[in-house]
Amino acid sequence: MTNSAVYLDHAATTDLNPAALSAMTEQFAHTGNPSSLHGAGRRANRVIDEARTKIAGVAAAHPTEVIFTSGGTESDNLALKGLFWNRTEKNPEARSILVAGIEHHAVLDTVAWLETHENATLLWMPVDADGVLDLQAAEELIEANHERIALGTLMWANNEVGTIEPISAFVALAAKYQIPVHSDAVQAFGTVPTDFAASGLATMAISAHKVGGPVGIGGLLVRRDIVLMPVQHGGGHERKLRSGTLNAASAAGFAAAATAVQANLDAESKRLSELRDYAVQRIAQSIPEAVLNGPRDALNEGKRLPGNLHFTFPECEGDSLLFLLDMFGIASSTGSACTAGVPQPSHVLVAMGRDARSARSVQRFTLGHTSMREDVDKLLEALPEAYQRAKKAGMAADESSIHTAGTGFTR
Ligand code: PLP
Repeated sequence: MTNSAVYLDHAATTDLNPAALSAMTEQFAHTGNPSSLHGAGRRANRVIDEARTKIAGVAAAHPTEVIFTSGGTESDNLALKGLFWNRTEKNPEARSILVAGIEHHAVLDTVAWLETHENATLLWMPVDADGVLDLQAAEELIEANHERIALGTLMWANNEVGTIEPISAFVALAAKYQIPVHSDAVQAFGTVPTDFAASGLATMAISAHKVGGPVGIGGLLVRRDIVLMPVQHGGGHERKLRSGTLNAASAAGFAAAATAVQANLDAESKRLSELRDYAVQRIAQSIPEAVLNGPRDALNEGKRLPGNLHFTFPECEGDSLLFLLDMFGIASSTGSACTAGVPQPSHVLVAMGRDARSARSVQRFTLGHTSMREDVDKLLEALPEAYQRAKKAGMAADESSIHTAGTGFTR
């Protein structure tokens, strides 16, 4: 249940799955630190083990490859810093990181931190107008710099425009020089198949609250032969990669939600992509100047997240449209953030080649497991008027600077 009558922001966070709620409710009644040796501790540890096994099953990983964290942000930090430090310890010259400008700030700000504090060099990989990695350019960067590259990172699916990236092809390019690759799969996990074993990835970040699990728990899948330097030190939990008492109730909730979405993945993908395409067609009729960003993927062939709709609505401020839609009871997102009252362009659209002004006129609608046709119909009803009013409100003076560190963030 959400405050807005129509919740179209499932990529930010989605409703708690009833299976997750009941799994957690059951566990909250029990005491026991999973590291304790007595019966209560062993019981809690069994809950963790079962959750780990279930999540591994959904991700096609081995249970020992699942490291519990507090969420996607922490997983990205652990993977990127951990891989970088491990690689540079062995070879201090290998300090370059392959990265694309469409990444979430959990990745962008982490590599920016490594650049500032650890003397990393960022090798920017271009994307095309749909946000898809330019594999040829990536290959050229790898060929020219492989001796100095510590790691590569490529998100599985983009959180703003829903583009699904060519993970296996990128991993294959990097594998030629044994370059480990991390993927932020926070938006992809539980929405499209994410086979960790087949991907060849070194590490993969996932998060519970995007799949109907609780906020505050996530995972990093770490291939068994990969060594990471930990960010957090303490009791040596989770293969010594992530110290801190494990949260059995949240792990059980995460596993229950992941199992539920996995059981319904194909049917839900079809249902959501049909709903999405219905909205795309109707918006094209009612607002012909609206531009769909990201791949069209009308046949649902795995080029775009099934529940993602992302449009440029020309000559209106995305934030104005968001607030107007909210007044109509519709929860949406601009993807980009307002910094000190100044609307910021979406860094994702800028990376896709859009100008900074039009990259502010965007709106994201994301569908999820509770979305119904009536939700989309209510959006279709409200959108033309909200857009006209947002256009009338005009756009703020141009702001050309793009914040990629710290302040502006996307979900
Ligand atoms: N990466 C992507 C692509 C996301 O969409 C999000 C969500 O905000 C995150 C990382 C951060 O995940 P979390 O909210 O679990 O820290």
